[in-house]
Amino acid sequence: MSSLRGLVADTLEFSAVDGPGNRFVVFLQGCTFDCLACHNPYTINPCVDCGECVDQCPSGALTLTPSGVVLWNPDECLQGDHCHAVCRYASSPKARHLAVADLIERIRPAAPFLSGVTVSGGEATMQPHFLRALFDGIKADPTLRTLTCFVDTNGDAPSSTWSLLDPVLDGAMVDLKCLDPAIHVEITGADNTRTLDSIVRLAQDGKLYEVRLLILPGRNDDPELLTATGAWLADIDPRLRIKVIGFRRHGTRPSPIPLVEPTREHLQRCADLVAARGDFVVTVV
Ligand code: SF4
Ligand code: SF4
Repeated sequence: MSSLRGLVADTLEFSAVDGPGNRFVVFLQGCTFDCLACHNPYTINPCVDCGECVDQCPSGALTLTPSGVVLWNPDECLQGDHCHAVCRYASSPKARHLAVADLIERIRPAAPFLSGVTVSGGEATMQPHFLRALFDGIKADPTLRTLTCFVDTNGDAPSSTWSLLDPVLDGAMVDLKCLDPAIHVEITGADNTRTLDSIVRLAQDGKLYEVRLLILPGRNDDPELLTATGAWLADIDPRLRIKVIGFRRHGTRPSPIPLVEPTREHLQRCADLVAARGDFVVTVV
């Protein structure tokens, strides 16, 4: 088995919202985007060991070593996430360099109750060789090989990453933050060219499980834009699975641009505009 280590923010033993069926989820640390509406903002950057969160920990689970490294003691941690709240670098002192074997041993006890494993983030594809090694390890393990291997991705990966993952990737959920390039930059801080290319590529490869559209009222919900998004997706595959998700403030950072939560009715209108252009399987959450 590969000795590669990945920077892992967290793991979740069971999830019903991260792909088909019941899934073990691995959240990798680090992202290529800096989304205003990010629900896991503490996964965006690696920790720079500034030490500012150490004294904020009410349970004394954090220490700064004489050599300037912040250490986290999980046995002392009360999981109040004060460190995430105070971190100015969109990071966490709890991310760990874990080997493939470490994750396999975490997955194994849950395996009889799982449909598969999803790697999320942060951005799953920022550590492509670790991702490949993890999925290789799952596929090679006699007790895990029936589990499907998925990524939940912002799609901001080069073509070479999808080629590397192709032999072991069973499916991808791709977030399309906005079809319009300028709005995409406004809400993520990054260009959307690679995301659009990835959606096309994954669909051609038969690996595109779902496209996710996060609706930010007043930012990416213009009716013409949503109609164009539906038309663009229908050109790729008119039977795509699409999940339309309403922005929820919970877990996000204060935003320099005001963000509001959509009503259920508004979200459904957005979904209807997208759906009108194809024969999609649309869910609204
Ligand atoms: S792509 Fe995802 S993890 Fe990265 S900043 Fe955006 S919402 Fe957060
Ligand atoms: S988690 Fe953030 S505040 Fe804490 S040491 Fe790392 S960079 Fe500094």
